[in-house]
Amino acid sequence: MAEPQQLEPLILGRRVRHYRNEAGLTLDQLGELVGKPAPYLSLLENGKKEPRVNLVVDIAKALGVDVTDLLETTPPTRRDALEISLIRAQESALFETFDIPTIKPSAKVDNQTLAHIVGLHDVIRAKSNLKSAGSEDVRKANGAVHTYLVENDGYLKEVEVAAREALESSGYAGEGPFSSRNLIDLTASIGLELMPIDDMPSFARSIIDTYNKRIYIAQRNELRTRQARKAVLQTLAGFVLGHEPDPDLDTFLRQRMETAYFAAAVLAPEDSVLARLLVAKENHDIDVEDVKELFYVSYEMAAWRTANLITRHLGIRCHLLVSDEMGVVVKGYANDDVPVPRDDHGGIETQRLCRRWGARMTFESQDRFGTHQQYTDMPSGTYFCSTHVEAGRTPSYAITIGVRFDDARWFRGRDTENRETSTCPDPSCCRAPSGDLADKWAGNVMVSARSQSRILGLMAPDPYPELDMPEVLTVVDGHAG
Ligand SMILES: [Zn+2]
Repeated sequence: MAEPQQLEPLILGRRVRHYRNEAGLTLDQLGELVGKPAPYLSLLENGKKEPRVNLVVDIAKALGVDVTDLLETTPPTRRDALEISLIRAQESALFETFDIPTIKPSAKVDNQTLAHIVGLHDVIRAKSNLKSAGSEDVRKANGAVHTYLVENDGYLKEVEVAAREALESSGYAGEGPFSSRNLIDLTASIGLELMPIDDMPSFARSIIDTYNKRIYIAQRNELRTRQARKAVLQTLAGFVLGHEPDPDLDTFLRQRMETAYFAAAVLAPEDSVLARLLVAKENHDIDVEDVKELFYVSYEMAAWRTANLITRHLGIRCHLLVSDEMGVVVKGYANDDVPVPRDDHGGIETQRLCRRWGARMTFESQDRFGTHQQYTDMPSGTYFCSTHVEAGRTPSYAITIGVRFDDARWFRGRDTENRETSTCPDPSCCRAPSGDLADKWAGNVMVSARSQSRILGLMAPDPYPELDMPEVLTVVDGHAG
């Protein structure tokens, strides 16, 4: 985020709009005076364009004000100040952790309401260590977490050990799904009591009462039991792994990854998954679906467990990508040098995948909820991947696990006829239109972009979400917090 001294496009824009309104000019009228189209000026007023100095001078002249009036670094009115505060608050890393929709500070929101909302943001920010983190900080921290995972080949030894100890405390028999009984015993071993209840609020998976040392979970519905199992384990992970409360951003992301890793390592234990993978490798029949079935976990969690163990124990390097229908990576991991696009910090979240890759081709296949295998020839070599779109999740995510050509022989589906060629990031691969099309359509197509509520709203690794719901509600001394 810019320092207060710097010229900020949004403040400049608001000042231009303020003096334009005072001068009683429309965008069109100002446009005529300074020789710019109204849509351009509109972008400028919204902080989406940074004008050249000459234009600022022209605008000042047209509005009958001094250039310095436009270049002041404070918002022109209290209303503007509030709107800018809200816009910034919603761009912060802290806000991104809330998982609640953004609102536009439009004219419909009155001053009192706006001041109230901004006040709440301020209070929450003051109580958090994540307060100063902007999107760039999030990317940087995400990149660091990703690097850490890659350096460890996707395998976090200490967390596996903690999970192993937790499994022992829970009386887990060593195979099959981790039961509710196991969860109750594990919770007890940490000094908490697990209480299955019938009347869980619909928005919560579990409620923790730290005063009475109880965790409430929903007991009836099977799907919610599965979610609750994960939510409770994530809560216990904080205790077991000794996570500091109120961490800074880097620590927060690391903790989040470890928490998710721990839950997965309990639900799909190392020894059992490994035993399964070893047999599957012998039979040239490795498939994520088997891990999923065996442990009653989501496909995505099964894929992460496979990626966690496959390099360290089976010597197979791999990549794992969770991406949406447009090919935007939600989270992922790669230690097999597959040329996945990366940001400046090495992170792959929010990057867009090649259209020829399995993660995207699967959405075009006949049976989009089946499993799509393919080989992809790339300049750096050929890769094999297996992609599955998990049913029942909205939006739909493709979960891809892939390996270099030489390692395809260990996987089910290696005999697929599907084969694609990708030369990304070469623009002619799938991004730029062919010469004919460009000639025909250049200047004749206008796309109206939908405003995206979460362009950067991706605090990478909760690698194992099962639903986009509030994780837990903590009750301290009777107050929800
Ligand atoms: Zn491409």
